[in-house]
Amino acid sequence: MTKPLTTDLRHIDVRQLARKKLLVPGYRYAWEWKHHHTGELKASIWIEIADAYITFRYKISNREQSCHIAQAVQLVTTPCNYGHQRVWFACPHCGRKAALLYLGFKLACRRCHKMAYEVQRESLHDRQCRKLDKVRERLGWEAGFLNGHGNKPTGMHWYTYEKLLTEHHRLEAPILAQFGKLCGLDAELAKYL
Ligand SMILES: [Zn+2]
Repeated sequence: MTKPLTTDLRHIDVRQLARKKLLVPGYRYAWEWKHHHTGELKASIWIEIADAYITFRYKISNREQSCHIAQAVQLVTTPCNYGHQRVWFACPHCGRKAALLYLGFKLACRRCHKMAYEVQRESLHDRQCRKLDKVRERLGWEAGFLNGHGNKPTGMHWYTYEKLLTEHHRLEAPILAQFGKLCGLDAELAKYL
């Protein structure tokens, strides 16, 4: 029996397993996380070692779903000093060597998890841009936050114009900040592009 994981992304370190001599083919054991102070069991996973493979079994859940994960991961070695070998996980998603694997709804290296996170952020960015374009449309300005600011549309009430401007600036700030980050600029500078 293992205790389910939550999505706060626990990780497992191959160097720690190697140090504790827990990478011996044929070994089967539970790997546990306990509370620092109380010793209460927070989560646990099941590990099985075969020749050059390590299999992780665990249950993970969040508010929406609960999954059983069983994932075999290849162990690869590279030579290091004094004829020793260093062992790595091969990330099941990108195949890169990794010392750490993160246990989420997928078991993968940090880079693969980070990429999934960036995609989510990207769609947030897209959503923000769409909202901004709606305001720009009402202002009669060309869509796209890089197209600068236009003038007050003829016939528009000043009060309405001021309200839309405020809304435009509120929506624009995080978009510019994000854009600046992508381009390696700060938000202030991005405004003048
Ligand atoms: Zn990866």
